[in-house]
Amino acid sequence: MEQHEQDQFWMCKALLLAERADSADEVPVGAVVVLNGEVIGEGWNQPISGHDPTAHAEIIALRDAAARIGNYRLVGADLYVTIEPCTMCAGAIVHSRIRRLVYGASEQKAGVVESNCQLFERPWINHRIEVISGVLAETCSIKISAFFQRRRAEKKAAKISLKDEG
Ligand SMILES: [Zn+2]
Repeated sequence: MEQHEQDQFWMCKALLLAERADSADEVPVGAVVVLNGEVIGEGWNQPISGHDPTAHAEIIALRDAAARIGNYRLVGADLYVTIEPCTMCAGAIVHSRIRRLVYGASEQKAGVVESNCQLFERPWINHRIEVISGVLAETCSIKISAFFQRRRAEKKAAKISLKDEG
């Protein structure tokens, strides 16, 4: 398989994990860590259900991978995530020494890889990361927007039913 086909393949896995967040009513973001053609870490967004502000898909996947290989440095590993990482996750990616970051859709509000700043390009960042963006971007972004559309519709429906009761 060529690199871009591999990237799409692993992004599909990350999208499947995003489904788990979706079914738990969490913003649907999924992530996998891949080393030597094998998944060594999996994560999906779960801050609300986990009562954990740090429980983003990337953090969960990095923790899973580090525990599995028994090393806090994931040298040579690649992280696939459906959405552009936020500040916290970008920091964790640097600390874990991820080799390549591959993400799907960009995130205009919180993304710090390309959207709001290019964090990895800053001189004080002491680890260079190869970044590939836009892999299955449309699928990743549709998943997020469908989630928020559904949530808005649910809120509206809840308001209407409150009115009916009143
Ligand atoms: Zn994050």
